[in-house]
Amino acid sequence: MPSKVYFGTARQSLLEAKETLPAKLDLILEQLHLRERVKDERVVIKMHTANNIGYSTLHPVFVRKVVQAVKDGGGKPFVADVPWDVAGAEMRGYSAESLGCPIYPAAGPDEKYYYEHQRPYKNIQSWKVAGFIQDATFMVNFAHVKGHPSNGFGAAIKNLALGCMAGETRGRMHDSMHFDQYWFPENCPDPATSIPQIAASCPFQAIVEDKKAPGTMHLHMEQCNQCGRCLKVAPQGSLKIDKVNFESFMEACAISVSETMSTFQLGKAIHINLATQMTPLCDCFGFTGMAILPDVGIFGSDDIVAVEQATLDAIAQTKLIEENIPLAMEVHFREGHPFRQLHGPLKDPYKTTEYAEKYGLGSRIYELVDIYPLVKVERAALPYTSAN
Ligand code: SF4
Repeated sequence: MPSKVYFGTARQSLLEAKETLPAKLDLILEQLHLRERVKDERVVIKMHTANNIGYSTLHPVFVRKVVQAVKDGGGKPFVADVPWDVAGAEMRGYSAESLGCPIYPAAGPDEKYYYEHQRPYKNIQSWKVAGFIQDATFMVNFAHVKGHPSNGFGAAIKNLALGCMAGETRGRMHDSMHFDQYWFPENCPDPATSIPQIAASCPFQAIVEDKKAPGTMHLHMEQCNQCGRCLKVAPQGSLKIDKVNFESFMEACAISVSETMSTFQLGKAIHINLATQMTPLCDCFGFTGMAILPDVGIFGSDDIVAVEQATLDAIAQTKLIEENIPLAMEVHFREGHPFRQLHGPLKDPYKTTEYAEKYGLGSRIYELVDIYPLVKVERAALPYTSAN
């Protein structure tokens, strides 16, 4: 049976508050029966409070509505995020006063409060699930949708995958992209000549000589849009721009969420995506640029895979606003999802949901329920009035 995803469009028929996204969030929370499900639960609201002067993640108006619903239902809410973002959260409007509940660093101020889960994957032996996350008994996963330099986009899955792990695991997840070999020195007979040429071929400084291992190359996957310029100058067989490296991070995200969600009983989580002000990169970057896609709306479900798939499918119906893309980026590829077009062919956002489904986190088959459909506005015909 398909998973239900409740959806409120960002569009309005009428100029009324009840047709705006915070009001539609209320309707989604009702459909998910949040109030009825949280009595006496210790409810973590996992969100990203952003960084520095970023202002495009979840506005406090939205978060406050979730907090109020949890309180109405007799639950004990708190917001959790990584420590350096929590430390300056009040600068961006997030405080106990504005949200109505405390904000905690998920793994403690020094990221030393975690539970270790053994599960080997490439360079990761164990997953350090943040203590405040594992101690909670109910999860509200509330994510802002935007682009992401490693897996093309970030939303519900990435919000948990990175935000519920202690720092060491987050670092290892990023490093998983380097686990599979992509530089083959035996096929580069003249590194003193070739390495500077390869580095110079990349307009994004994505491939550089490895500082720790001179004579070899290091690929910054986040900056790489897989344009292939470097492959044209690299000696044959010396360099690979390979999907296995890019997809390692996506698979690591799925495993990470699987470890976090294993600490919650079945039915003790909801997942919400807010797809507005979608910027090219994630909210960790500490600033907000122009939106590169039109606002789509808000999605909620018990199924993290379904909510992610529905969000991606809705965004796929839109087009990149190319004039809003920063000049430091380029769109050289026009196939598939808009986020894939922006970040390159090997950063297909749908891979993340494929891995999440593979690891049993939910289903990509969903039924979309529009909780406040647009209505046709009938306008009275204007009578013709002569200027004379
Ligand atoms: S594929 Fe393009 S973006 Fe990536 S490292 Fe090579 S030149 Fe740079």
